[in-house]
Amino acid sequence: MNQIIPALLLFLFSIAPSSGLLAQEEIPYPVKEIDPTSEKFDRVYQLVSKQLYEDALAKMDVYNVHVLQTIEPGFYRVLIGETSYAMKIPGKPIADDEIVELPAVETDEVYQYTTVLGATATIKVATVPDLPEKLTKDQFHVNLSNGKTYLVQIGTMKINCTRCGGFGMTSSINKTKCKNCAGEGHFIKPKMFRVQW
Ligand SMILES: [Zn+2]
Repeated sequence: MNQIIPALLLFLFSIAPSSGLLAQEEIPYPVKEIDPTSEKFDRVYQLVSKQLYEDALAKMDVYNVHVLQTIEPGFYRVLIGETSYAMKIPGKPIADDEIVELPAVETDEVYQYTTVLGATATIKVATVPDLPEKLTKDQFHVNLSNGKTYLVQIGTMKINCTRCGGFGMTSSINKTKCKNCAGEGHFIKPKMFRVQW
């Protein structure tokens, strides 16, 4: 039986696309007065660098990599979709017949092996691309003081529907469901902060 291993935990903070109705409001979060050696500054840095890293990771193409056979530790014969590859996968060993979710890219290398029927097969070598670089705290501090800003999400907020005033109904007599908020009375929006100098 195949087992899906979340080899990379992609906690994706998806940011709802802003429309006119749900325009993204940003709350300014100035950090100029925060001591860069303080715990508070560190918390802001950790949050920003984590979200940047996850956003960069989310932009990578991730595939279901079906491991067919271990060639040697860290090197496997795999299936990605319908295509066989020899793939370098660093980290802990993966058992035959497991499926792992991984970003993958083709390389120029090929790998030759003998099939069970004794024929020689040549397949391309794939590899896990380098993971995005993490923003360092010093760089974060320098970037901010140079005017760069960072948009981060901290939780969500409830916004009352302006059409029904939060009741979810546009008529108290007919109990007509508000079309603007689908009768919810409110919208849940990501709470966005603009970290700036
Ligand atoms: Zn409404």
